[in-house]
Amino acid sequence: MENVYIETYGCQMNFADSDVIAAILKTAGYGLCSAAEEADFILINTCAIRENAEQRVRHRVRELRALQSRRLHLRIGVLGCMAERLQNRLMAEEDNVSFVCGPDAYRRLPEIMKQIAGSRQQVAEVELSETETYADIEPVRLSGNGVSAFISIMRGCQNYCAYCVVPYTRGRERSRDPETIVREARNLFNQGYREVTLLGQNVNSYGLTPNPSPEWRGEHIAFPELMDRVASIDPQLRVRFATSHPKDLNDSLLEVMASHENICRCIHLPVQSGSNRMPKLMNRKYTVEWYLDRVDAIRRYLPDCSITTDVIAGFSTETEEDHQATLDLFRRVRYDYAYMFMYSLREGTYAWKHLADDIPEEVKKRRLNEIIALQGEIALENNRKEVGREYEVLVEGVSHRSKEQLFGRNSQNKVIVFDHRDAEVGTYRRVKVTSCTQATLLGELVQ
Ligand code: SAM
Ligand code: SF4
Repeated sequence: MENVYIETYGCQMNFADSDVIAAILKTAGYGLCSAAEEADFILINTCAIRENAEQRVRHRVRELRALQSRRLHLRIGVLGCMAERLQNRLMAEEDNVSFVCGPDAYRRLPEIMKQIAGSRQQVAEVELSETETYADIEPVRLSGNGVSAFISIMRGCQNYCAYCVVPYTRGRERSRDPETIVREARNLFNQGYREVTLLGQNVNSYGLTPNPSPEWRGEHIAFPELMDRVASIDPQLRVRFATSHPKDLNDSLLEVMASHENICRCIHLPVQSGSNRMPKLMNRKYTVEWYLDRVDAIRRYLPDCSITTDVIAGFSTETEEDHQATLDLFRRVRYDYAYMFMYSLREGTYAWKHLADDIPEEVKKRRLNEIIALQGEIALENNRKEVGREYEVLVEGVSHRSKEQLFGRNSQNKVIVFDHRDAEVGTYRRVKVTSCTQATLLGELVQ
């Protein structure tokens, strides 16, 4: 049996895709191994969102030359967004790569791998699809902890934010048959999983763009209805979702969230910038006022909900005033967590064609550092307020710091570390917060 080693970079969606890839290859008779040194094929599932994500992959591909010189039959494939973006160019520049395969072509992997095994041939399979959702494939959970799992509910994106490469690497938005989603969640629950995260680039538009597949037999339901169905599987199954585009976050979702205690109290609401000029330039289709109205709505329906965000420092023409407006917005919303990025110009995007990448690197870096520093203070202040509170924690595993401690998350997605006594992974335990750092709450089990 030939062995495949899959290495994944990038977002949660990529990790979910790797699980689908593993299932396709396992069904085709390949073995899955956990070390590159044992592999006959190494598949690298990549991210193209920022230049540094691509550089990391190129570095890894070059590093693998040494292993290839010892294992002459070893073949390397690059999958996912970077494969889609660069296609044959990638194999011309990295000639130890035997094939590239885009996000909608994974069903063809066994065929491609048969074709290139034992030869010096290079193959590119990068056609995008308007209908593929891999709905019928039961993923092999490669990196799972047996407690929480990702479920892809849609693919692609057609929002065309000016800076973003995703619509070009992942194609048109399409939704997956709701029945297959509910079935996957129920199967996971029956296998002992206690948390599922429904994934899409903009989950709030789930079901709104009908899947044009001729094989589509499912109903077309909107996201709040889907959440209601998944949350109704069992009150012991926690349900999360990512990502919400602020332009589409409506009250009906918040109402459904409020009506199910097992829908987790955490909303990831990427703002990108706090200055009204920027979301317009970025084609985000909301104003800062609209965004803040959505934040107020979340707090109204779900007073204990945590809010997290993504932000980009140094997008085209961003002034000091724009940057200050972002800092002000952070002070106003007081996010529990933020993914903070420096703007990276991506070939093919609207910004690449029409907007100058005119903020010097050191200015981008300084602005990013100011946002990081402020967010650090806010997260610590938010966490300090948690001391003394009690939470239901889903136990996920042994803490990295000490074998004597376990960690889990509360509904708000905050990590809580506590002495384990007899708590079991995959169970819910009541934990009282006793102290905190910026990133973690520390607590003790409540009898
Ligand atoms: N679909 C999600 C949304 O719109 O909220 C986000 C998906 S994207 C994979 C994750 C984040 O990467 C974005 O929210 C944005 O902050 C960041 N990002 C995307 N393109 C970027 C770029 N060219 N430079 C820097 N950050 C970028
Ligand atoms: Fe990119 Fe915008 Fe689509 Fe998110 S919504 S994936 S940022 S284009």
